[in-house]
This record gives sequence, C-alpha cells and structure tokens, in this order.
Amino acid sequence: MAGIDDLPPLREVIATHGLSAKKALGQNFLLDLNLTAKIARAAGDLTAADVLEIGPGPGGLTRGLLASGARHVVAIEKDPRCLPALAEIAAAYPGRLTVLEGDALATDATVHLTPPYRIAANLPYNVGTELLVRWLTPPSWPPAWESLTLMFQKEVAQRIVARPGSKAYGRLALLAQWRADAQIVMSLPPGAFTPPPKVSSAVVRLDALPQPRYPADAATLSRITATAFNQRRKMLRASLKGLAPDIERHLEAVGIAPTDRAEQIDLERFCALARRLAPER
Ligand code: SAM
Repeated sequence: MAGIDDLPPLREVIATHGLSAKKALGQNFLLDLNLTAKIARAAGDLTAADVLEIGPGPGGLTRGLLASGARHVVAIEKDPRCLPALAEIAAAYPGRLTVLEGDALATDATVHLTPPYRIAANLPYNVGTELLVRWLTPPSWPPAWESLTLMFQKEVAQRIVARPGSKAYGRLALLAQWRADAQIVMSLPPGAFTPPPKVSSAVVRLDALPQPRYPADAATLSRITATAFNQRRKMLRASLKGLAPDIERHLEAVGIAPTDRAEQIDLERFCALARRLAPER
C-alpha cells in the first residue's frame, strides 16, 4: 500500500536521527502512519484550518495532519533532537509547517496562527491535562481554538467525558462539558506506541461551544466545584457550608437536596448554584 507521503518510514527517521525515547519527556511514539492519519481525520476538516500541534516528536502525527490537508501546522517541541527530523517534513511540505522549539507550557504560538484554529496532540499526560485546563479557561469565550483532539491516558479521557453518578465524574468533566462538547473518538492499546506505556490511551475530541452551555460566572463555578469535589463523599450541605451561611436554602432553590453528594449533581444545577452565589457586580 502506498504511504501517506514520500518521506521515510518513522522507524528509519528515528534510527537516522538517534531519537531513542526519553522517559522524562514522556516519549511514547506513534510509528504507524495510517494510525496518525486516522487521528488527524478525527480532528475534522483541516483544509481550511491552521493546526497547533504540541509535542510532534519524530513527526508521525505531524505528517498525518499535513497529509490530511492541514493549511498550516505550527508545532511546539521541547526535545531539540527532534528538530532535524521535523525540518525534513517542513521541506516536504513547503510553507505549511512551522516548528517552534520550546516548552509548550511557556511558548506562545498564537502569533503564527489564524483563529479559529484546531489543536491536536499526543502529549505526556500531565502536560496534556495542564494545557487542557488552560485551553478551557481563556480570559474570554469563545476561545481562539475551535476543536481540541488530544491523546490522554484512558482514565483521564474518561474523567473528561464522565457523566454524573460515575466515579470518574468531577471537576474536569464539569470544566470540559460546560463550554465544549467532549467525546472519546478512539481507544488505543499500549502496543500502539513505541515504547509501549503501562496503560491504555484514548483520543478525546472537544469542540468549543459558541457560548457556555448554561450561564455562570467562571470563577464562582470553579470555586463551588473545587469545594464540592474536594470532599466528594460528604453531603453538600456540609462540604459547601463555608460558601454561604444559608447554603441549604440555596441548594434547595436550585433543586439540590442538601443531603446530595457532589457526584450526583449535573452541570445545569452547578451552574444554577453558581448564579445564586456569584458576587454582585
Ligand atoms: N507526537 C509524537 C507521536 O505521536 O509520536 C510524539 C508523542 S510523545 C508521547 C510526546 C512528545 O511531546 C515528545 O516528542 C516530547 O519530547 C514532547 N514534549 C514533552 N513535554 C513537552 C513540553 N512541555 N512541550 C513541548 N513538547 C513536549
């Protein structure tokens, strides 16, 4: 079968450039270009979009994104050893790949991107969670991105899409689902990666909603959910009592029984509570 491009297979790229995987950088590479092309397709129609990729490594997903027609890919990579391999991809796709060397947590790529852009990444999971929270909490909404297509450890992916009443349901689900549609679009076994990680992975796709699903002040909602889920086994009348002296009355007013626990409460009622407890402006 013909490859997705005319560049060498990734195993050869890794051997040529001496890219032995470094654990400290969370390097678990995807070497199957058909799989990376599939992940790129899960990111949607890229032909009219700029794409921000975090952690391109030897460039498997980068090549998938470019072969899927991405107008312009901007990729941030922390490991300088990967830069020559990425330069070869840039040469094969003239004017369509910009590589920035640096830590994605400290690199501003926005000057290179035309919003609304898409974001795609296969990242170490701790960096991924921190970036996800940042992308979901910009100073104003809608954000500069229209979709996020991100690889996570499966357990984290389940926390992002979790529904009330499940063990995985918590702050991350509420934050993600308040202002985005979130779904798991692909599951990958450890063997899909080189070297294989200890756990399974999943790709989550998040699409930004034009406005939050229910109105609420972001800071108040965040304070309530943090307080409620920090003591998730307590009844809400106990865990939230520090937020308002008459908390039971507020809970009842939005349809929450004071004896309910955080994991039973859906997003709509958390937002209603945030509207009642928001400081006057
Ligand atoms: N995207 C490639 C793939 O799918 O094969 C590599 C994935 S590997 C799981 C994670 C990549 O993120 C590595 O190339 C690593 O060097 C890079 N990385 C780790 N921490 C980073 C950070 N803070 N900023 C940018 N890149 C980072």
